[in-house]
Amino acid sequence: MTVEHHLKDHDLRVTDIRKRIYEYLVDLDTAVSHAELEMVFSNDFDRVTIYRTLNTFLDKGILHKIPTDTGSAKYALCKDHCTTEEHIDDHVHFKCSKCEKVVCLHDLEIPNVKLPENFKANNAVLMYEGLCDKCS
Ligand SMILES: [Zn+2]
Ligand SMILES: [Zn+2]
Ligand SMILES: [Zn+2]
Repeated sequence: MTVEHHLKDHDLRVTDIRKRIYEYLVDLDTAVSHAELEMVFSNDFDRVTIYRTLNTFLDKGILHKIPTDTGSAKYALCKDHCTTEEHIDDHVHFKCSKCEKVVCLHDLEIPNVKLPENFKANNAVLMYEGLCDKCS
């Protein structure tokens, strides 16, 4: 599927910045923060536009947000099953303590824990930390 198709598939009009950020994330294969994107695209787009694009992508099931312990969230591409109606990002994340990258481990599902009675979860985050394949 081309970038244009993918964006349209998620109810999005194709704009230059959407295309550029999407292509950047596909090639990158790790999660990025807003600040990192800003550094990459600051010559071409202002920070508000970048921020808006991130939020639109979150909204439309293109990106998911990964909370980190540094306080600045990271964003990574969703798999195809996320839609404009619903995100299903129930996979494990990994943070490398050496190169500090955060990656999605899409094949590893977060195990289903049994919550206490009357607790209903609608989201779960599981972050492993250690050394990634490049650093270990
Ligand atoms: Zn998602
Ligand atoms: Zn690493
Ligand atoms: Zn992820």
